[in-house]
Amino acid sequence: MSTLFVVGKINRTEVTQSLATVCDHHIQLPDLAALFIRLYSDRLVGRSHEEGVSLVVHPGNAAESAELDSTFRAFFPVLNLVAIDQHVAAERLRELVTQLPAQNKRCRDRVRRMAHWMYHSGCSSRVYSIARQLHTLRGTAQRRTVPPVLAAIDFASLLTRCDDARYWRLLSTWNFEPHTLLRSDLVWCAFVLLRKLAADAHLQLPDQRLLLFLFTLEASYHQVNKFHNFRHAVDVMQATWRLCDTILQQPLQVLLLSVAAIGHDIGHPGSNNMLLTKFRAPVAMRYQESVLENMHSDLFRQLLNDQWPQLLGQSHNTNNLISDTIKATDMALHAEYVDKLRENRKIDNLKTLTSLIIKAADISNVTRPLKISAQWAYLITLEFRDCSLLEEYKSARDDESENESEGNSDDDESARDSGDGARVEDILEVALSPEELVKKYPCIPGGQIFFIDTFAEQFFEEFCQKFPELNFLMENIRSNKKFWLGKL
Ligand SMILES: [Zn+2]
Repeated sequence: MSTLFVVGKINRTEVTQSLATVCDHHIQLPDLAALFIRLYSDRLVGRSHEEGVSLVVHPGNAAESAELDSTFRAFFPVLNLVAIDQHVAAERLRELVTQLPAQNKRCRDRVRRMAHWMYHSGCSSRVYSIARQLHTLRGTAQRRTVPPVLAAIDFASLLTRCDDARYWRLLSTWNFEPHTLLRSDLVWCAFVLLRKLAADAHLQLPDQRLLLFLFTLEASYHQVNKFHNFRHAVDVMQATWRLCDTILQQPLQVLLLSVAAIGHDIGHPGSNNMLLTKFRAPVAMRYQESVLENMHSDLFRQLLNDQWPQLLGQSHNTNNLISDTIKATDMALHAEYVDKLRENRKIDNLKTLTSLIIKAADISNVTRPLKISAQWAYLITLEFRDCSLLEEYKSARDDESENESEGNSDDDESARDSGDGARVEDILEVALSPEELVKKYPCIPGGQIFFIDTFAEQFFEEFCQKFPELNFLMENIRSNKKFWLGKL
């Protein structure tokens, strides 16, 4: 979906008229405040602005366009938004109108969209790419201030929500079911939890700023990913916090680890390090090892530096807790952590202990009750399917670059279009029972047993021996495994 936002009164009507011919929707808004409110509200109801390029025509000048683009990159990083001032040159306007249909087509196709995110190396593309996002990284000395128009938004009023007691009930159980929650609920769950943990650690942000942080974080996760999205981030934060309840009570450590958990997959492209490395993505050249985890850590550190700097540079002991634990979620390090659990009678090294907690939370899907576990299994199956399609797509054109000028190759009708038609269906299917999901996707049981046998069982057996109060995790794994074995 490509939207043309017209903000304020535009005197050159030929600008909006010609752009309207290449956008699916045309929305008139009185001012920039209304635009930002609209973008946040759209995200909450699943209008992601990731499946097309959305244009924002405004009455300002070129410098204001540049400033607006920079605000989009900082506060809505994964959206495809482009600012256009009404004085735009006729030639650039013609170029936009010519190129936009191909760019929209690329955004709508989930495989070509992922290929662009991962392998495009230009940093000025209208369509999001990891390279574009990494280009915004700055040193910690340069803190980005919040534009007054964003600071003034009443974020709480954008959220439909119940009383906080309901959210605490949801958060406080291992039966946490994020698939039954609206995006609005997810933001509020994260808000009530982080507000309390921050108060316990005496590192509060004003409510407005904490909500801005969470809305920015939501817009830094790809909504169009099946599994690695904001829902997974909130789920891992909830699991981390519940595990801390047994293992780690020091308020500052609990806060930092819970914050690390909600940011641990920021900017995740829904694929994996193997695919990034195999086809030489720019981000893989940059980091060499633990590619995604290093990227998540750097992007999240910048967001915290801009919006919650008090969390960085705490005491010597906790200084790198957020970065270290995010990097520990690389599954290539899994065996190393199992060894640490086996070798140490007692885990008293803080870095190891916090890394083990976030790792446990990150792979906790298999430790949830069957119905919830099956929902996650279904979603990761869909995401793996996208990865296979992407690998096929890249293998077939490995010698070609993703850096064609904005538009050329996308006009090629022979390029395969994998479409995204399953999305509405995907969402409805999450509500199916485990039996119904297996009937539709017979590969789920095999995938779950492989994951449990290869990774989860050995890790949680050792983990629960160290922390016997958590034995219910192993009990859930055993009973889920029994169910999956019965479906082979
Ligand atoms: Zn994760």
